Amino acid sequence: MQYLEKVLAEVKAKNPNENEFHQAATEILTSLKPMVERHPEYERTALLERFVEPERTVMFRVPWVDDKNRVHVNKGYRVQFNSAIGPYKGGIRFHPTVNLSVIKFLGLEQILKNSLTGLPIGGGKGGSDFDPKGKSDGEIMRFCQSFMTELYRHIGADTDVPAGDIGVGGREIGYLFGQYKRLRNEHVGVLTGRGLSYGGSLARTEATGYGLVYMTEEALNARNDGLNGKTAIVSGSGNVAIYAVEKAQSLGAKVVAMYDSNGYVYDRNGIRLEVVKQIKEVERGRISEYAKRVKGAEYREGCKGIWNIPCDVALPCATQNEIDGESAKALVKNGVKLIGEGANMPTTLEGIETFKKAGVLFLPAKAANAGGVATSALEMAQSSGRLFWTFEEVDRKLKNIMVNIYRNMDAAAEEYGMKGDYVAGANIAGFKKVAEAMLAQGIV
Ligand code: NDP
Repeated sequence: MQYLEKVLAEVKAKNPNENEFHQAATEILTSLKPMVERHPEYERTALLERFVEPERTVMFRVPWVDDKNRVHVNKGYRVQFNSAIGPYKGGIRFHPTVNLSVIKFLGLEQILKNSLTGLPIGGGKGGSDFDPKGKSDGEIMRFCQSFMTELYRHIGADTDVPAGDIGVGGREIGYLFGQYKRLRNEHVGVLTGRGLSYGGSLARTEATGYGLVYMTEEALNARNDGLNGKTAIVSGSGNVAIYAVEKAQSLGAKVVAMYDSNGYVYDRNGIRLEVVKQIKEVERGRISEYAKRVKGAEYREGCKGIWNIPCDVALPCATQNEIDGESAKALVKNGVKLIGEGANMPTTLEGIETFKKAGVLFLPAKAANAGGVATSALEMAQSSGRLFWTFEEVDRKLKNIMVNIYRNMDAAAEEYGMKGDYVAGANIAGFKKVAEAMLAQGIV
């Protein structure tokens, strides 16, 4: 189809060397094909060209001083991608692999994810190539303060509301919020994922992992199946992974392996999550510790080997492109039934193709991990209404949202003749509302 191909070629030509951004744009635009064919007005109004171009990109210097008085400089980013349906919303990532391409792929995905939640939030993303690993609390605080000293002028409770992501958890959100409040002299819901004592929402910490598992269970239930008795692998051992394991275990799954960026642990008796939480949340240590503390568990250096372990359900919850074509083939060979993406874009295009060909049930990130941002939007609602909902109330809303997203993407896939293709279903269902809002608002 000429129009789509033209836009995709332009994305590649105008944004050279942005491989992750090309990958996300390719996945999204390709799957919108049947929708674009039904809507000639998209081409007339250059809707797709506008959709793939961020409304605003801010790049800035983040200087900070370490504990030995040495000065460091990192790069800071905020991409305000699309505000057609609400204020920009999306996390901040601190990781050495962060660059403009990574932030743009995350921002583009975020637009559709946020739309899928059914809540009024636009798409954005930010971050820095700062590496929080091995830094003291004081260094983290000074870095966050420096980052916010530039960012504060671009965000606001009704403009752009960042949240956490890789390397940005409760501690970092606290330091970022403190600096924003100091600079602006206002206590508002400008960041989500805040602590409970200063405007945060119950269940936000658990939301992405729980939401992923709620959708996984719903997809299995729709096939007269369920997580109970299934063997699962959950990659990563951060916020999303830990709470995905917690909910999966509570529904009767046996999670046998997890990793961090150094290597993986395999515990055929089932991961003991309290040990992982102690190592990761309390001590901020390495997953290799687990094998030293739990009898019968093994630790192996390197991450890729995890996908050779037989499982029924794989929940990649660490980072982009962690399942490549080869790993996907290994999973299929071992009889995997379902992939639920907790991380953003954890499967390469080749990996997705492999699962599709093998008929593996595939829940794409923008739907499966939308529980985090959905609960962030619930936090925004509580902030502006000066309300505080109970854990059960937020959790119930989260579960409803995840079930609705599943049903909407299922229906969208079917409507366009691609039953069970949830990559297409999620993109189409998410894009529908954004496209309508963009068309209604004229050429902006
Ligand atoms: P965390 O920083 O809490 O945890 C990230 C985990 O992934 C850590 O165990 C980390 O290991 C591991 N990891 C990071 N990079 C790599 C790598 N290159 N190879 C192997 N392992 C790696 O982040 P989150 O749990 O918050 O985020 C995980 C994923 O989920 C990301 O893709 C994020 O965008 C996505 N997501 C998060 C949401 C949230 O609410 N937090 C919402 C929606 C999506 P190590 O400690 O060694 O770095």
